[in-house]
Amino acid sequence: MAAKRHVIVGGGTAAINAITSIREFDQGASDIVLVAEERPYSRMVLPYYLGKRISRSHVWTLSPDRLAALGVTTQIGRRATALDTAQQRVTLDNGETVDYDDLLIATGSSAVRAPVPGADLPGVHSFWTLEQADGLIAEVKAGSEVVLVGAGFISFTILNSLVKLGVRLTVIELAPTILPRMIDPNGAAIVTRWLEQHGVTVQTGVRLNAIEEVAGRKRLVLDGGGELSADVVIMATGIRPNLGWLEGAGLEMGRGILVDDHMRTSAPNVYAAGDVAEAFDRVTGQRALHAIEPAAMEHGRIAGANMAGVDRAHRGTVLMNIVDVLDLEIASFGLWDDADAESVAVEKPSQWAYRRLLWHGQGEAMTGAIIIGISEHLWATNDVGILKGLVQDGQPMGAWKRAMMDNPWELKRPFVATGHVGRLLQETVLGRPSTPADEVNAARWVSPEAAALAAQTEV
Ligand SMILES: Cc1cc2nc3c(=O)[nH]c(=O)nc-3n(C[C@H](O)[C@H](O)[C@H](O)COP(=O)(O)OP(=O)(O)OC[C@H]3O[C@@H](n4cnc5c(N)ncnc54)[C@H](O)[C@@H]3O)c2cc1C
Repeated sequence: MAAKRHVIVGGGTAAINAITSIREFDQGASDIVLVAEERPYSRMVLPYYLGKRISRSHVWTLSPDRLAALGVTTQIGRRATALDTAQQRVTLDNGETVDYDDLLIATGSSAVRAPVPGADLPGVHSFWTLEQADGLIAEVKAGSEVVLVGAGFISFTILNSLVKLGVRLTVIELAPTILPRMIDPNGAAIVTRWLEQHGVTVQTGVRLNAIEEVAGRKRLVLDGGGELSADVVIMATGIRPNLGWLEGAGLEMGRGILVDDHMRTSAPNVYAAGDVAEAFDRVTGQRALHAIEPAAMEHGRIAGANMAGVDRAHRGTVLMNIVDVLDLEIASFGLWDDADAESVAVEKPSQWAYRRLLWHGQGEAMTGAIIIGISEHLWATNDVGILKGLVQDGQPMGAWKRAMMDNPWELKRPFVATGHVGRLLQETVLGRPSTPADEVNAARWVSPEAAALAAQTEV
């Protein structure tokens, strides 16, 4: 009997986690075909590459040798252009087709620029792919005047590197406050002050109308008659899941591809994972698009297990964003902007510290949190990790909720006393101790745990 053929489209975090997950369980028994437009690399490390903290060679995730060791046949540099779910067939941009027994769609997202005249001028950049990072690195120099359009999470991941490169930086944002989808206005006010103190100019409530080329520089025309001048413009104005190639495939879609808790789409034998998948949010129980690394990793592992024939359900992903800006840590988890929550917010202006804790509907389980503070203070007390754990655990806190509301600066005692540590330590995505990714190979070595699990299942 022919080996089962898994086809994986996309070479990012979701895809590589699916591949290692399949191999952990099936011991090399299946065929895996990887179709990826780009050679596999991590988008998340691109800010470090921009800031010269890592070299270009460190962005790659799966080398050709590693793919061979995992027994993966590759179609790198090829784009999938169509999906026929009845024939179980993917068409590639060179006209070739690849048939599958099961398929994982893990095509991630792309950056979207604000639709203004001049958005495509040379010297106007997005920062989402390695090619785009190379383009920016080639142009940006110490002393360059840079305008960052959009003050969302992605802007903040590159802000550190830009400042450390010695550019003169202005950030403009359409919303009234920075990081509008990550922190509340109180938190945003603290971060704005911090940026200004570190020489970054911040303008909020500003609409960009056009970008013009004037004597080799860019002129940004703002609503209301204002303008800015720049050597380099970076548009961090949003992302969109890469779904265009699935037009006509008949998959049920919302903002992304709708999946169940096994990452199955509405079509038989078709899975979706990562930025393209509208999967379950752990706190709300509703489907949501979470374009974050932990979601891609978890989705990929769950999809891979199920593709290998091992029944694994996902508990859902907790929305989380953590970013360090010039040594100020900013993080939010779960339902941080829930209008129906009981909440407490405290601030220590002299220490740049702020936190807001939320309990939905006056329940006893923490459902959201925002935390801001100087990095070395927060990591010294592990408070970022504790809040992430509390929201992720989702268990009632009993009387400790009141204690936290009375003193939100003291997190460690409630965290330990409510047993969250023990529960979270036992929890893994696949419900068992995980195998280090670099120890997984095709038909070479399988952990005893994985072998035992595989033996209990029909693979
Ligand atoms: C600069 C930057 C910083 C980030 N920092 C963080 C962070 O700190 N924390 C965090 O949680 N998240 C962060 N993210 C987001 C995180 O990187 C993404 O959520 C994650 O990469 C999603 O993984 P994915 O596998 O779904 O998609 P991707 O990693 O985007 O991979 C998708 C792959 O599919 C390929 N592809 C697309 N279309 C096709 C097609 N038709 N045919 C074949 N191949 C195709 C692409 O070339 C790509 O290789 C950051 C992203 C960027 C850009």
